[in-house]
Amino acid sequence: MRVYELARELGVDSKEVLAHAQDLGVEVKTASSGLATDAVELLRLSFAPEETPEPEGTPEPEEAAQPEDAPEPQAEKAAEEAAEPEPQPEDAPEPRAEESLKIVSLVEGATVAEFAEAVGRPIGEIVKALLVRGVPAGAGQPMPTEPIDEIAEDLGCVVETAPAEAAPPAPAVAEKPVFDDDDADLETRPPVVTVMGHVDHGKTTLLDAIRQANVVEGEQGGITQHIGAYQVEVNGHRITFIDTPGHEAFTALRARGANITDIVVLVVAADDAVMPQTIEAISHAKAADVKMIVAINKMDLPGADPLRVRTELTNQEVLTEELGGDVPSVEISALSGDGVDELLEVIDLVAQLEDLRGNLKAAASGVVVEAQLERGRGPVASVIVQRGTLRRGDSFLAGPVPGRVRALLDDQGAAVKSAGPSTPVQIMGWDETPAAGDYFEVMKNDREARKLAVERRDEAKAESNVAPSARDRLEGLLEQLRGEAATLNVIVKADAQGSLEAIRDSIGKITREGGDIRIVQASVGGINENDVSLAEVTESVVVGFNVRPEPKARKAAERAGTQIRTYGVIYELLDEMEQLLVGQLAPDEEERVLGTAEVRATFKAPRVGVVAGCYVVEGVVQRNAKVRLLRDGVIVHDGVVSSLKRFKDDVREVASGFECGIGLEGYHDIKEGDHMELYMVSEVPRT
Ligand code: GDP
Repeated sequence: MRVYELARELGVDSKEVLAHAQDLGVEVKTASSGLATDAVELLRLSFAPEETPEPEGTPEPEEAAQPEDAPEPQAEKAAEEAAEPEPQPEDAPEPRAEESLKIVSLVEGATVAEFAEAVGRPIGEIVKALLVRGVPAGAGQPMPTEPIDEIAEDLGCVVETAPAEAAPPAPAVAEKPVFDDDDADLETRPPVVTVMGHVDHGKTTLLDAIRQANVVEGEQGGITQHIGAYQVEVNGHRITFIDTPGHEAFTALRARGANITDIVVLVVAADDAVMPQTIEAISHAKAADVKMIVAINKMDLPGADPLRVRTELTNQEVLTEELGGDVPSVEISALSGDGVDELLEVIDLVAQLEDLRGNLKAAASGVVVEAQLERGRGPVASVIVQRGTLRRGDSFLAGPVPGRVRALLDDQGAAVKSAGPSTPVQIMGWDETPAAGDYFEVMKNDREARKLAVERRDEAKAESNVAPSARDRLEGLLEQLRGEAATLNVIVKADAQGSLEAIRDSIGKITREGGDIRIVQASVGGINENDVSLAEVTESVVVGFNVRPEPKARKAAERAGTQIRTYGVIYELLDEMEQLLVGQLAPDEEERVLGTAEVRATFKAPRVGVVAGCYVVEGVVQRNAKVRLLRDGVIVHDGVVSSLKRFKDDVREVASGFECGIGLEGYHDIKEGDHMELYMVSEVPRT
């Protein structure tokens, strides 16, 4: 974000923002200088109406601010290069921070004449200004981008154009059309399998074991390449595995509407049984409505107890065939390889029953599973083709990124000419790096692809301008609930199993005519990114009891407009659930998180008691701010910052990236590795 953009958001002059920035030790020079996210937060806070931090109280920044009398480097350069006879006086340029800047809008690629008109100056003056900077351009030529900001600022303006360098955020949901293929064109395609389960239960080991033992023989017997997915052959049938274990890949793709998985293999360690991420994986698989196969892993260990795994799974409404249900389960050891073949056969069998088919003849389309910028190779990305056949030379588009297939590589790094349904393939020839989860499709030609890319960019930009806030979203949800029969989806996270059970029971009893609350998932622990993405795809509200969202989860929720509501008292939680169900919500208070800090050491200090040596991870820490002390995402104390020091000095505020000493009022049981979440509470007008 740039200074003038923030100024506009805050409804103040750019120069005020610049002045504050300097007070806070944020290094910015001009109104069009970029601001880091941290700096933006800091500045927003410093403009918050409740309390404007005194500049004196601010800790000395490590890097010194620009000295007052430093000459403007650009002006100096301009003066040197000036072709004009009248020399520019040495002391002429005032620091531009002092000027109030006018914002002018320009479409990308505007001409010099259009620029002149926008800033309200004669064309000749602009042409001259460009010349002085060594960039000659005529009135009808596109305004050179390099010196545009500089020239605009000299004229007291700030120019707004669409950023050309980075792709704008793609629409939240990849647009995947529904096809009506002729039955005659459809052929059997391999299943796409995702392996999920709790951390350390053996997902990676299993994926490696499957791959090593069953590689599809490539033409040249190539070397294994990581392209985000691979194929193996079982009984002459192929199976495609997404080789990023865990839920991130699955949910990130799903959150964007890209459902590529046909079958989920749920790995559960036989010596450990059902754990929080096992439950999460089950919720995801159910929400996506895909087939599930349970792999009971680590059967080689003496403590292996497959019956316990199956029994515990019934509590999550996963009934294995052994216990009379319809979910296949296989006992395996990913380490020794025992049972892995049987697992593959079961996958193959399930796939056959599902009768998965795809159209080979259509123009190819699919989903980006992995993308990165590689040194020397440029943007590369892997896709899984879902429909049609992808060929070298095809023009394509993924989200807002166009390209043309220069080369196709399979999962063994071998060049291939084409790729059909369910085939993972790495594509070279992208204009930019696309995003994982983007829907990908072949276009008639380059021109078509480019044209659509521009349209999508514009759309995405327009959409991001009106992205709904969490509150708006909830309001929308409540609007529906006020209507006829409706269900409120919630994801519950709590500090302990006991409280979780109590909440689950009580929520189950809340009903109103025609409406009820559905618990999509309930588990113990802090609110993490997975909870937020599950909430997003299931349109749920995340409800926390004595737990807090991790910073990443909080940000993800803000981005997605997902509601997270946390409580410290069960009846308040239930009360609010009840109100939500009848479509009412009017919180009187809203919390704002100021920042987070990590405890790196603890000391005993006279009078204060225990002082925590902290590193401010994001935002700021303020003396007298409210603070929650978190241990593994669970609130162990909720209180107030009583002392805040930088070295030996008492300070009022410490910004992110700095270390400080924090004392809590009346609380001393602080441990290394704890996190502190600083927050403030403000009144919210009822809407
Ligand atoms: P992930 O976090 O689910 O991907 O788990 P990993 O595949 O990284 O495995 C975690 C640990 O469990 C590693 O030390 C593996 O060697 C071990 N492990 C995985 N599968 C087995 C198994 O079948 N038997 C035994 N004894 N150990 C296993």
